[in-house]
Amino acid sequence: MQGNVKNLKISILGASRSGIAAAKLLKNRGADVFVSELAKEKEMESAASVLKNSGITAEFGGHSSRVFNCDFCVISPGISINSDIAVNFKERNIPVYSELEVASWFIKGKIIAVTGSNGKSTVTSLTGEILKSAGLDAYVAGNIGTPLSSVADKITQNDYAVVEVSSFQLEAVDRFKPDTGIFLNLTPDHLNRHGTMEEYGRLKALLFKNQTRDDAAIYYGDSQIVNKLMSDCSGNKFEFGLKNKEKRAGFVEDGILTCIINEEKYSLLHINELGIKGEHNVLNAIAASLAALVNKVEPAAVESALKTFKGLQHRMEFIGEVNGVKWYNDSKATNVDSVIYALNSFSEPVVLIAGGRDKDSDFTLLKEPVKKHVKELIVIGEAAQKIERALNDVTDIYRASTMQDAVNKASKSAEHGDVVLLSPACASFDMFENFEHRGDVFRTLFRKIEL
Ligand code: ADP
Repeated sequence: MQGNVKNLKISILGASRSGIAAAKLLKNRGADVFVSELAKEKEMESAASVLKNSGITAEFGGHSSRVFNCDFCVISPGISINSDIAVNFKERNIPVYSELEVASWFIKGKIIAVTGSNGKSTVTSLTGEILKSAGLDAYVAGNIGTPLSSVADKITQNDYAVVEVSSFQLEAVDRFKPDTGIFLNLTPDHLNRHGTMEEYGRLKALLFKNQTRDDAAIYYGDSQIVNKLMSDCSGNKFEFGLKNKEKRAGFVEDGILTCIINEEKYSLLHINELGIKGEHNVLNAIAASLAALVNKVEPAAVESALKTFKGLQHRMEFIGEVNGVKWYNDSKATNVDSVIYALNSFSEPVVLIAGGRDKDSDFTLLKEPVKKHVKELIVIGEAAQKIERALNDVTDIYRASTMQDAVNKASKSAEHGDVVLLSPACASFDMFENFEHRGDVFRTLFRKIEL
C-alpha cells in the first residue's frame, strides 16, 4: 500500500513517541507537517527539541486554529476519537487517521498485525522471533513501543512488519489492511475510553475490515464474542483454540501443538517444551505459529523459536526466590482477565498484590480465582477500596499505602512454598509513570529483600 503525501498539509495531534515518528516520516515524504500538543513545552522538552532539530513546526500548551488548516490530521493513540478536538476535525470534514493507518501506507513488505485484550505484546514479539529464526527481516513495532512510523521506511518488499495494534489505534483506520491479522481474545478492558464492550469489540474487528481472501485472519475460536465479530471477515480464516479441535487450524493434540494449513498438518513441539508457561501462553504460541506457517516459514524455525522465547519482562516474569517463596512480576496485567490467567497458572498459595488506576473494571470477576488461589490480597492505589469491596468475603485483605509497604507485607505473610505475585488488574498511572516503572520498582524492592 503506497502513500503519496507530497506537498500535503498534515496536522499531527500529540507530540508523544508516535506523533513524533509520524511527523518525521511524513516530512521525509515531502509533506508540510504541523504538530500540536496540549501539554506545555516545558513538560515535553525532549519532544520539542527533536521536532526543532528535524525542522518540524510545532505548538505546545494547546491546539490553536492553525491545526485545522490541513488536508488531514494524524491523531496519537492517547487522544480519543471522541475528544473535543477530534470531533472538531470531523465536523469540518477533515479526515482523521491514526498513526498506524498512515504508517501502513508506506510499508512495502508484509504486515502481520496482532490485536486482542491480552497477549498482544507476547505474540507480536514471539512472531518476530520466529520470523528472525527463519532468517527473515522482521520489524516488531506498534503499541509494543517502537511506532510503526519509525520503521516504515526501512521495510523492503521481502521484509515483515509485525505490529501490535491497540483498540486506540483502530479508532481511526481507513485503508489499513494486514496481510495476516491475529485476534487473540476479547475481555473487558478500556471501558473508560470505549464505553461498552460492543464498541470495544467493534473497534478490534476493524483490523480485518479490508482483508480479502488473499489475507489470513487468525482468531481465537473458543471465544464466542471473537467468533461473532469475525463472522463478517472476508479474509482466509484460521481458527485456533483448545476446545473443539475438529474445526480448528491451530490446537493441541495429545500435548502436541498442532497446526493445519491448507490441509497440511504440522505437528510441532510438545507444549511442555514451550519457553513460555501457562495456558494463556499455549494459546499465544499457537497464534504465533499459525501466523508464521501461513507465511510459509519452515516448521523447524517455528519450533526452535517457540523453545527459546522465554517471554517478556513484566508478564508473569519470575524475579527470584527468597526463603522458599517465589516472586513474580506481572505488572502488565492491567485488566481483570490477565489476572485470572495469572492466578490459574499457580498451584501454590498466592500472596497477590493488586490495584492501581481503575478502568471501570468489574473486580467481582476475580472472586472465584482469588478464593481458589489467594491466601492474602494486598491492595494498592486508587482502586484499593473498590477491590476490597468486591473481594472482602473471599480472602484476607490488607491495604498498603505504597509499593514498599505492599512488598514488606507480602514478604511477612508469604511462607515457604508460597508465591508472591504482582498482578494489578489496573493501570499504573496513579502511582507510576507506566507499567514498566511499576514492575521495575517492584523488582528493585524485591532485590532489597533478597539481600
Ligand atoms: P498485551 O500486549 O495485550 O497487554 P501482554 O503479552 O503484554 O499483552 O500480556 C499482558 C498480560 O496478559 C500479562 O499479565 C500476561 O501474563 C497476560 N496474558 C498474556 N497472554 C494472554 C492471553 N492469551 N490471555 C489472557 N492473558 C494473557
